[in-house]
Amino acid sequence: MLKGKSAVVTGSTSGIGAAIARALAAQGANVMINGFGDAAAIEALRSELEHSHRVNARYSGADMSKPAEIQTMMAEAERAFGAVDILINNAGIQFVAPVDEFPAEKWDAILAINLSSAFHTTRAALPGMKRRGWGRIVNIASAHGLVASPYKSAYIAAKHGIVGLTKTVALETARQGITCNAICPGYVLTPLVEKQIDDQAQAHGLPREEVIEKVLLERQPSKQFVQVEEVAALSVFLCGDGAASITGAALSVDGGWVAQ
Ligand code: NAD
Repeated sequence: MLKGKSAVVTGSTSGIGAAIARALAAQGANVMINGFGDAAAIEALRSELEHSHRVNARYSGADMSKPAEIQTMMAEAERAFGAVDILINNAGIQFVAPVDEFPAEKWDAILAINLSSAFHTTRAALPGMKRRGWGRIVNIASAHGLVASPYKSAYIAAKHGIVGLTKTVALETARQGITCNAICPGYVLTPLVEKQIDDQAQAHGLPREEVIEKVLLERQPSKQFVQVEEVAALSVFLCGDGAASITGAALSVDGGWVAQ
C-alpha cells in the first residue's frame, strides 16, 4: 500500500513508535527510525525492518529537543530516500508532579520534545510534500490532548498544543494533497507507562497494582491497555489513500476514555 513512499518516525526505538515503524515498513515504506537506546538493539530493529520488508531503513540519533539536530535528521532522510512523504511525530517523555513542584527544566524538556519537535519536523517536511502534492503527517497526541488529569501539567499542555498544531497544519495544507491528523491513545503499556506507574505510585502513595487499577485504567472504560499495534494500524490507515479526506482530526484510541 505504501510502496515507494518514505517515512520519518520520531521516537521509534521503543513502544508505539517502533510498532508504527514496523507497520509502515510492512506496507512497503522506507523508514527512518529515531530515538535513544542500546545501539545493538537499535541496529537490530533497523536491520529487521530492512530485511523483513525489503525497504530502505535508516537510523538517526537526533535529539528531538534540539532544533538543529532535527533539521539535520530531516535533511538526511530526504537525501537517503529522495523524499519524506510520511512524517510521524511520536517522540515523547513524561514527568509527574504537582504544578507548584514541577521542575522548570522538566517543563522545558517536555514542551520541546512532545510539542516543538513536531513544529520543527513539520516545517522541514512540508516544502517537499507541497512540491510533490502528497503528504501524510500523523501526530501521536494522547487522550491527554483532549482532557486533563492532575500532576501532568507539562505533558497535558504539550498534548493539547499538538492537537492545535495538527488543526492549523491541516487547514494550511487542505488543498495540497496533504493531511495532518492526531491520534489520541489512552493508556498503552510501553516503557513510558511502566515508568509512570512507578512515578504515580510515589505521587499518590499507592502500591503499583493499585495505581494500574485505580489511577491509570480508572479512566479507561475498557479496563484494558491499548496495544501498540492498534495505534500503528490507525497510523497506516491515515497514510493511505482511503484517508485522503480525513484531516485536522483528533482520533481517539482510548477504550472509551474521552466519551465520559
Ligand atoms: P516510549 O518511552 O516507549 O518511547 C518513546 C520514544 O521516544 C523512545 O524511542 C525514545 O528513545 C524517544 N525519545 C525520548 N526522548 C527523545 C528525544 N529527546 N529525542 C529523540 N527521541 C526521544 O513511549 P511510548 O509510550 O511509546 O510513547 C510514544 C508516544 O506516544 C509519546 O508521544 C507519548 O506521549 C504518546 N502516548 C503514549 C501513551 C501510552 O500510554 N504509552 C498514551 C498516549 C500517548
